[in-house]
Amino acid sequence: METSARVVVIGGGVVGCSVLYHLAKNGWSDVMLLERQELTSGSSWHAAGGLFTVVRPNAAAEMHRYTFQIYKELEKESGQPCGFHLTGGLNVCRTQDEIDSNLMMQSACRRLGIEGHFISLKEVQEKAPILDTSHMIGAFWEEEGGHVDPASATQAFAAAARQLGATVHRHTPVTATTQRPDGTWDVVTDKGTIHAEYLVNAAGLWGREVGRLAGIELPLMPVEHHYLVTETIPMIENLEFELPQINDNETGCYARQEGKGVLLGAYEDTCIHWAKDGTPQDFGHELLPNDLSRMEWNFNKSVEIMPCLGEAGVKRVINGPMIFSPDLSPLIGPHPALRNYFCANGVMAGFNQGAGIGRVLSEWIIGGEPELDIFNWDIARFGDWADTSYTEATTKYFYEKRSEKVFPHQEFDVGRPINKPQIYERLAQAGGVFGSSFGGEHPNWFASQPGQSDSLTYRQPNWWGPVADEGKRIRNELGLMEFSAMAKFEISGPGAETWLDFIVTNLLPKLGRITLSPMLSPKGRVIGDFSIARVAHDRFMVLGADYMQLSFMRHFNQYLPKSGVSVKNLSNDLAGLHICGPNAQALISRLADRDMDTTSFKFMSADKMRIGSIDNIMVFRISFTGECGYEMYLPRNRQAELFDILRNEGSDLGLGLVGTRSLMHTRLEKSFAAWGLELSSDYTALDCNMMAHVKPEKGDFIGRNAVLNYSPQQEKFVTFTVDIGDCVIWGDEAIFFKEKPIGYVTSGGWGPVTEKHIALGYINIESYNKNNDYFIEIMGKMRLAKLSTRPLYDPMGHRMRK
Ligand SMILES: Cc1cc2nc3c(=O)[nH]c(=O)nc-3n(C[C@H](O)[C@H](O)[C@H](O)COP(=O)(O)OP(=O)(O)OC[C@H]3O[C@@H](n4cnc5c(N)ncnc54)[C@H](O)[C@@H]3O)c2cc1C
Repeated sequence: METSARVVVIGGGVVGCSVLYHLAKNGWSDVMLLERQELTSGSSWHAAGGLFTVVRPNAAAEMHRYTFQIYKELEKESGQPCGFHLTGGLNVCRTQDEIDSNLMMQSACRRLGIEGHFISLKEVQEKAPILDTSHMIGAFWEEEGGHVDPASATQAFAAAARQLGATVHRHTPVTATTQRPDGTWDVVTDKGTIHAEYLVNAAGLWGREVGRLAGIELPLMPVEHHYLVTETIPMIENLEFELPQINDNETGCYARQEGKGVLLGAYEDTCIHWAKDGTPQDFGHELLPNDLSRMEWNFNKSVEIMPCLGEAGVKRVINGPMIFSPDLSPLIGPHPALRNYFCANGVMAGFNQGAGIGRVLSEWIIGGEPELDIFNWDIARFGDWADTSYTEATTKYFYEKRSEKVFPHQEFDVGRPINKPQIYERLAQAGGVFGSSFGGEHPNWFASQPGQSDSLTYRQPNWWGPVADEGKRIRNELGLMEFSAMAKFEISGPGAETWLDFIVTNLLPKLGRITLSPMLSPKGRVIGDFSIARVAHDRFMVLGADYMQLSFMRHFNQYLPKSGVSVKNLSNDLAGLHICGPNAQALISRLADRDMDTTSFKFMSADKMRIGSIDNIMVFRISFTGECGYEMYLPRNRQAELFDILRNEGSDLGLGLVGTRSLMHTRLEKSFAAWGLELSSDYTALDCNMMAHVKPEKGDFIGRNAVLNYSPQQEKFVTFTVDIGDCVIWGDEAIFFKEKPIGYVTSGGWGPVTEKHIALGYINIESYNKNNDYFIEIMGKMRLAKLSTRPLYDPMGHRMRK
């Protein structure tokens, strides 16, 4: 056996074989896959092989679509049939909520050019005569639906990879992985040790065990999953075409034609974990004992729409294990704690996502970064807080709730609270309705009665009015917000200035001042957006989106010199409070131990100061609402003291508690872009209008060459007001000009002062003209959208500077 390879992929399921194929296809043929038994010895051999492309979010849809489209090409390249059936897919709608959910999907699909539309119940019967439509009120058709033969598709990836020069060693279990000081890996097997530059953990059901070989604990938990295959059904035997893939989301069921019968799979209403403490090493091409009674509810619901199932004999029952992450989405990308170690784990739908994962990981390994924003699947979205009990609780919950809708802005209670701010009880007593971010709790809004929670709807929710009132308070008086959900880094040392200057694009601030700066990838994509304060000559405090903190640290560590610079992640050590509104300055002036008027501590200043009885509070004068605002950061155990001081002293200034949703709505009136919505690695600094914060003239920084070679701008960041009745804008809706989709919404909400629905988004630059009539497709209807060429509120920004 070879003793070295550029990349060693551990695991020969569909995901590992696809990663190997994509690495070889993208030019790295010195790559090797090690499989402990035969290929497909985990979940891959017994999958149902169903394919669908209409999913959210967009990056996931792009991954599904890419995977779907590759099978034909792969058959040709490998000479190995994949058993690919292009049948189309049909989403059954039994309720108005399911219609609404598919209407949102329909609009979102246009961005990617994925074909999905509603069909009549008559068409349903033409496409799927086994369906009784009396339990349906609608159906959504996706052109790109079907199925593959799982074992053949996996073998096809491996065969095509071999033809491109990759090697595959079966019956070669990996027993140890050790890292050398230079970051390369020794991969130990009973046939010898392979020295590799990069390692990919694609060990599927054994992802945890292979992770432990390198000292990491991955948040993964296996579950059991059933499907059955019926005997021949006469109605199907007589059909001259193949049935589509049928998805009945409200019952957690999927079905397709298998031979002349039906394959019916179910997310059973009780989730059973399997091998919680570790996947047995001797498990392979086996199945788990089946228990059809667990599928009873799903089966009976399926008989309602497919009565022929009630008459059919059952030929085969499969109960197989698959392994999930806490939110059931894949865990991919470089592990934040290890150099040159890539994860390709927790893949729930490998035959829909496997090729996409292979593509993204090959881009990441070979090119240093993925070509699209895949954060929703990035392993860095989970911190240590996603421990075993959290993973066990969430995988159970999301498996069992598979048949329930996911509503816009929905917060899930499962596994929470993990990390409560010190003032949690005070906020709860005041009616705080909490959301969570990276394991931390913060109020989204305040209800008039304690115990109220978000209404779940695709239309206007119960928090709409209260959030608008909180926005008005911010505009007219004074809001107090729990503000710990920020990534907070202290960067210090004799080399701090030079290093940070290379990491970010803007000029670094002078002492006591704040600068806004994007952080770019080498290819010029926006991978961070920071507020940077210089707090001493050689010390900076950097704030960014809190849920990106491990992703930021991963990037920082990649460039950190051996000495001279220290980067401390203080996100969890420091709590935050934020006051915002025209009376904010009056309040802080009463409490601070220094002058806080506009000339002494002007907009974009930062310093440590005493507030009330508390020393050394880090205060940023900054604004995301468009009003005068101060963010205050201090040790977590002093937050309650500061909160009480602010609340007492602010009572005669109209101070009221406000949640993060009012922050997100007020910033819409200012056209302020938010991380994860308008800003992400899908964009360059030019795309998202950040060039004022990019200074190529300052000297070298990461992404500078890309900036100098940016191709001309394709899309323009825009603000619209929209007339939409009882609907709301959630993001991802398609924007039309002259009946053609020319852009998409990134976020939407209600402007508290303008009293209008506001949408932010991107449109093709050639369609940009203030006199054009635009339309946004919301809940299946085209709504007139009025372009605003400048922020709707205080366009010159006087109020936040006052
Ligand atoms: C009943 C059922 C139905 C399903 N239906 C569908 C469907 O319709 N559509 C769909 O897209 N997905 C479906 N899935 C999910 C799909 O099967 C998985 O997403 C996919 O198989 C995961 O592939 P993988 O490569 O990540 O892992 P696995 O298939 O588990 O492969 C991992 C491989 O790693 C090897 N390995 C482990 N440890 C080592 C080691 N130390 N050294 C070397 N090799 C090692 C194993 O032997 C194994 O071959 C279904 C799953 C089940 C259980």
